[in-house]
Amino acid sequence: MNHARVQEIPVQRSSVTVINQPVGWNDVATQPRTKKLKVASYCRVSSEEELQLGSLENQIIHYTNYIRSNPDWYYAGVYSDKGKSGTDMSKRIGFNRMIRNAMNGEIDLIICKSISRFARNVVDTMDIVRQLTEKGIFVIFEKERLNTKDMTSSLLIKILATFAEEESRATSENIDWAYTKRFERGEVVAGQLFGYEVNKDKEWIIVEKEAEIIREAYDLFVNGYNMTEIARHFIRRGYKKRSGEIDWDNNNIRSMLTNERYAGDVLSRKTCTLDFRTHKTVINRGHKPQYYIEDHHEGIVSKEDYEKVQEILEDNKTEFNRGDYEKTPFTSRVICASCGKNFHRFGKNLEKTMWRCSSNKKSELLCEADPIEEDQIEKLLKEGFEKRYNINQRTNDGLLIKQLTKELSNAEAVREREQNLLRVELEKCLIAENKAILQNLDTEDLKEKRQEIENQIAIKSKLWEDFDKDYEFREASLNRLKELKGSDKAINKILDISFMRAWVIHIKVESPFLFTIKWIDGKETAVGKFRGGYHDGRK
Ligand SMILES: [Zn+2]
Repeated sequence: MNHARVQEIPVQRSSVTVINQPVGWNDVATQPRTKKLKVASYCRVSSEEELQLGSLENQIIHYTNYIRSNPDWYYAGVYSDKGKSGTDMSKRIGFNRMIRNAMNGEIDLIICKSISRFARNVVDTMDIVRQLTEKGIFVIFEKERLNTKDMTSSLLIKILATFAEEESRATSENIDWAYTKRFERGEVVAGQLFGYEVNKDKEWIIVEKEAEIIREAYDLFVNGYNMTEIARHFIRRGYKKRSGEIDWDNNNIRSMLTNERYAGDVLSRKTCTLDFRTHKTVINRGHKPQYYIEDHHEGIVSKEDYEKVQEILEDNKTEFNRGDYEKTPFTSRVICASCGKNFHRFGKNLEKTMWRCSSNKKSELLCEADPIEEDQIEKLLKEGFEKRYNINQRTNDGLLIKQLTKELSNAEAVREREQNLLRVELEKCLIAENKAILQNLDTEDLKEKRQEIENQIAIKSKLWEDFDKDYEFREASLNRLKELKGSDKAINKILDISFMRAWVIHIKVESPFLFTIKWIDGKETAVGKFRGGYHDGRK
């Protein structure tokens, strides 16, 4: 991490461009100057232990000597504060005096050991750095090798989010920040990256067993194998993913071959910011800058091999074009109960159109699910719909039409409410966790609780996402219901697959004859029967 170089990628550009290259202090020291630079340093100890070891004194002596020994620098003072964390030092007398003096023109450059030792939180740091920058005063963060002179504020925010440490960051006004930081520091991202583990010092350690698989993929690809062939090879060899599964597909291989992290670099793609006032998640789709850190950790493949693979991929771009199967209202909504993967449509030229589990298609070793007939989807969906609404026992279609209209009209509000409740729960957890960190209390239980909610949100997110995509189905069905109003016994006329689709999140295929339908309100209905007939699905 010490030798990381950070590059900002400007908005709307996909290639990596160097805009600002932060310099270490050596660069500053060697720049010729007509006037001596007035240099100060800020020191503080961050723990009781450090205080006892005389760390503050050592830091003061170190920086005093360091500044004085540079002939181009004028010694403008070493400022310091004692305190366990930035947050509980509400006074910060030394720090404030330094900023005052800087604003009065007595300091040109401030050297600080690390971002976390500077201001109390990210908001303060941003404000102070901005004020200083306006006056032409810059800060060098030694540990992160950053000079604020060379940074835009958006880049600085990203850097702060990436490098700052727990201690001074956790304040309850800073939930957004605290949350972003957990993502940025790799708690989520790196923890799941095949080939690496993150140790307690946040260093990325290569998992050799997995790294060998990655290198083999690069090797095979460079030698002319395509991604599907590599995936099949991995399945045959029984190579395991993190999940323990062996169901490799070309998407897995593609992300392996295109992930710059395997060459030791990090490209931050998302600025996952949760705005808790509006309860909205903002995902970076090119409207905010991204940044690229070179040599962030040890690579698994060489930069040369990585580049070679990217070139081949660029040449074969047509290989990425999917779309070898036609989209239907149920594309990616028919799920295999035994392996969890989607059923894909195939054989439209055959007598009957069939759907088949995509793992099963890859290899029968992965999933033994039988194919289903497309007709079966409509038949069982209708059965499920009738079952759910007792359609055959009803005498008054008017009431049913009213009920269906109400359900569809309210569906979005219901989904929003569910999401907001979980978000609020998450917010509460984060506040409690941050408070506990500030008071040096044990946070394990709180962390566990938070992660549980995060998991729930992650699971629900997939459903919400699918639900949101179905907006057009709901609109269409609502319109058809409107047209029906008043007419008697009409509901059967419109019970076709595209009408019922508006109520469906997905259909799980337990067997070719037994499905479970998941509806938009989260309820489930089992339909069909086992072949043996001991279960008729209608109990
Ligand atoms: Zn399957």
